This record gives sequence, structure tokens and C-alpha cells, in this order.
Amino acid sequence: MSPSLEPLPPSLGGEVQGKIYECFSRSEKCGDFAQAMSQKLVVTLGDETSRSLRVPANWVAALLEVLRNVRPHTASCVFKSLIGGWTTSARMHEQIRLTCIFGCREQPDEINHYFVCSPLWQIASQSLQVEAPLDLAQRLCIDKPTPDTARLLALVFALYHFPKQEQKSLAVPLRLAQMLYRELHLKRPVR
Ligand SMILES: [Zn+2]
Repeated sequence: MSPSLEPLPPSLGGEVQGKIYECFSRSEKCGDFAQAMSQKLVVTLGDETSRSLRVPANWVAALLEVLRNVRPHTASCVFKSLIGGWTTSARMHEQIRLTCIFGCREQPDEINHYFVCSPLWQIASQSLQVEAPLDLAQRLCIDKPTPDTARLLALVFALYHFPKQEQKSLAVPLRLAQMLYRELHLKRPVR
């Protein structure tokens, strides 16, 4: 005997989802986003690097203005970098602590190294045909952010995470760089 089928109730449209979103977002709202970002940046970089960094007073507002002119994925990668959202073996407490996956000798698989990792920034720079700033604050789009520096940082983020996730070798990011170049640089920003 076949089970009886009952019709689905009528759709409530977006009403339920809207109420759920409202409940969750109420507890997640950030009172002072700029201050929260600055505090998180110190956690990402550590006290020593943070103290040596030149951070303009209105850096978050200037950054948000730039991020409005790049693709949402680019903005997301920049944001994840500033809040330390890289899945390095150190941060993920992996059993095997890697060294730099781009081949720097005796350098740890840590976000602070990748912010200054020469091979990584060189690949990104060549792929986008954009000169990578030497100054860390500019690399991180904290000082004088531009759409180009945002794309560079986003590409650096992507170059790290693709081979890490795929467990591939250094040969992959070189090819990936060309693909990401087309993805990040040639497509028009979505507004
Ligand atoms: Zn390195």
C-alpha cells in the first residue's frame, strides 16, 4: 500500500526567514565596527608587528570605500585576511606544522609570514601586473588602499588557500595565478 501523500502547506514567502534573520542578527550586531576591526587586526598581527604598523585613524572607512568598487569575493578575501581568517596549520592546530608552502626556508606556515612572503607576493604581483607595495600597511590595504592593492591581497589569500585545500604542490599556484587573474582582474566589479 502506498503511503498517503499530503500537500505541502502554502508558502509563507520570506516571512519566516526574515524573522529568523532578525533574531540572529540582533545578537550579532557590532556597535563600533571600526574599533572592532582595529582590535581584531592587533590579534591577527600580534603586538610586536602591530606596534610597528602605520595605521591611519580613518583606515576602516577608507578601506570600505575601496571595497565597494571591487567584486564581493575580493572584498571577502581582504576582510578574511585582516581578521586572521587564514587556515594555516598553526591557526588550525594541525598535528603537522608546515613550513611556508611557497618554499621559504625555515619560515612557518603562519599568516604573518605570508604577508611578507616574497614568492607569494611575486606571483600575485606578476599575475595582476600590479607592483606589490613594500610597506606592510599598504599591502594589507590599511594605508592608502586602492582597488589594485585589494585585488593583490585577495589573490594572495586565494593562492594560499587553493593548494592548501587541494594538497597540491607549488606548481599549482603558478597555473592558478593565471586563472585567478582572469577571474579577479578582467571581470567587472559587481555593484
Ligand atoms: Zn614564504
